[in-house]
Amino acid sequence: MNKPKYIFVTGGVVSSLGKGIIAASIGKLLQARGYSITIQKFDPYINVDPGTLNPYEHGECYVTSDGCETDLDLGHYERFTDIRTTAANNVTSGKIYKTVIERERKGEYLGHTVQVVPHITDEIKRMMLLLGSAGNFDFIITEIGGTVGDIEGLPFLEAMRQLKWELGQDAVCVHLTYVPYIAAAGELKTKPSQHSVKELQGLGLQPDVLVLRTEHELGRGLLDKVGNFCNVERDCVVQCVDLPSIYEVPVKMAEQNLDAVILRKFGMTCVKSPELGAWKDFLNRRKQASKEVNIALVGKYDLQDAYKSILESLSQAAICNDHKLKTHFIQSEGLTQSNVEEFLSGMDGVVICPGFGKRGIEGKIVAAEYCRTHDVPTLGICLGMQMMVIEFARNVLGLEDANSTEMDPSTANNVIDLMEEQKGVTYMGGTMRLGAYPCNLAVGSKAYEAYGRGCIEERHRHRYEFSSRYRSRFEEAGMLCSGVNPNSGLVEIVEIPACRWYVGVQFHPEYSGTVLNPNPLFLAFINSAIH
Ligand code: GLN
Repeated sequence: MNKPKYIFVTGGVVSSLGKGIIAASIGKLLQARGYSITIQKFDPYINVDPGTLNPYEHGECYVTSDGCETDLDLGHYERFTDIRTTAANNVTSGKIYKTVIERERKGEYLGHTVQVVPHITDEIKRMMLLLGSAGNFDFIITEIGGTVGDIEGLPFLEAMRQLKWELGQDAVCVHLTYVPYIAAAGELKTKPSQHSVKELQGLGLQPDVLVLRTEHELGRGLLDKVGNFCNVERDCVVQCVDLPSIYEVPVKMAEQNLDAVILRKFGMTCVKSPELGAWKDFLNRRKQASKEVNIALVGKYDLQDAYKSILESLSQAAICNDHKLKTHFIQSEGLTQSNVEEFLSGMDGVVICPGFGKRGIEGKIVAAEYCRTHDVPTLGICLGMQMMVIEFARNVLGLEDANSTEMDPSTANNVIDLMEEQKGVTYMGGTMRLGAYPCNLAVGSKAYEAYGRGCIEERHRHRYEFSSRYRSRFEEAGMLCSGVNPNSGLVEIVEIPACRWYVGVQFHPEYSGTVLNPNPLFLAFINSAIH
């Protein structure tokens, strides 16, 4: 049984500096030295999970295999390290307060006043230690969401302070800050970083390691200056300059010995460098890929983070096929019969994106029709798959009013219908069909060819399904139900064998691909788009 060591990652100055990438990179480097790790994220917002959040607010909602809706940083953790995260890897203020309030209602506080300190902070501490308590990991990396100085982050930093005190040499704090470049003065400014460290110190926390994010290379003098002003050892101040790919970050961090100084802080010695062979091969392949593959993303959220895992999966698959990915976002709301040719004719492949609600669905149906009739390699994901089914029903089966009951509850031809277990569900949060489910693939299908085996498992996040009542009509007319859940009989994959590659999946294959193990379906899709 391992007694785990704890690495806390905090951020200062501004948000969006890439704390998740730094946490994932530290995890990657420690793993590359043979240690077992996990990474968890603590988010100070009140939502119990990001499942009910609009992607415009919070980017994509990532889903773990055990069915938890989580922050998109967990996707980075999995893609960098191949670990499988669970519900315990993402904790929000909402989750913490919910537990404490339920405990209070049960009378478990025995008449005491329930307070932020110690009750909320104790619950945060309990959750911070939870994954380590089973003894499966050498290191637990904990990313604290938000920026130091945020009011809602205070209980998390207080919990972290107490833990750091209690754990002594078994806890290390890595603080990520920003060094802006003032163009008018031609100078890089370290003052905001110094202030954010002061802020931390004011909360009783001394960072052990500083990572300075910057758009311009920082000289040694500047790094030393920050170290001096912040009580951080010289070699424990490293920089992270903007890079062409987030996947280069672990390598750049290793070059500056970030992992080695962290180990030293724990009183551990390290002789060898981390083993990053396969990782570097991927980066070289990425650099060498010169030919482009053009993929259209038909969706309604005009925002990169909303389709994060899809973009990463496409890019990984393109690199594995020795191509450079070029994506073209197409706003489905603006897509019509009269302009679809203009948008899609130059594309090597089209992804019809997941989503919720009515907005933009007719555009997705137009895209599905264009791709089917022009034999463009197409991958429909979740709502995207449902739109492929509706398009086929309307234009091939002649069911003009075919729809999903999500969009038109009164349609006579509800080829996409609410799942039986969803009927009567009133709570929105955490009640969809979530997480990994098995799926049997039809031998000889495109899906079977892609995965190379007959039984797979992928993650889901939806309420509606392909209505099995229509299955035989679809199959007779040329749309094959090539993936079916062995227990429930739910149709999980449809495809048109007569097309080059036209596959719709009810699950989200984008959640399970990693840099070193890209998702087979994306690989096959890109492969067909290239040829
Ligand atoms: N809105 C659809 C459903 O609930 C699809 C969800 C999705 O694309 N993730 O079934």
